[in-house]
Amino acid sequence: MPKCKIIQEAQNCSQWFILGDHPDVTGFNSPFQEKCRLCGEDMSAHGWIDLSDSDESSPVCPGDWILTNARGHVSTWSDIAFKKVFKLC
Ligand SMILES: [Zn+2]
Repeated sequence: MPKCKIIQEAQNCSQWFILGDHPDVTGFNSPFQEKCRLCGEDMSAHGWIDLSDSDESSPVCPGDWILTNARGHVSTWSDIAFKKVFKLC
C-alpha cells in the first residue's frame, strides 16, 4: 500500500522567552502567585496571546514557539511538540 505525508507551507516562527520577543504576546497579569501546570515556571514569567482559532487568549510559556501561517493564523507550540512536528528552514 502506498504511503503519504503532509506537505506544509513554511510558516513564520519565533521562540518566545520574555516580553518583547513577539509583538502579539502581552504580559500575563495574574493576581495569583501560582506555578504553571505545563512548565512549572511562575505565571509571572508567562505571556498571553490571542489565538486565531479561539475567542480566548492562551498563556505562552517561556520557550514556546509562536507560528503564523500565510493566512495570518496564529498557533503556539511547546518546544518539545514543535521539534517533533517542525524543522527550521
Ligand atoms: Zn508555563
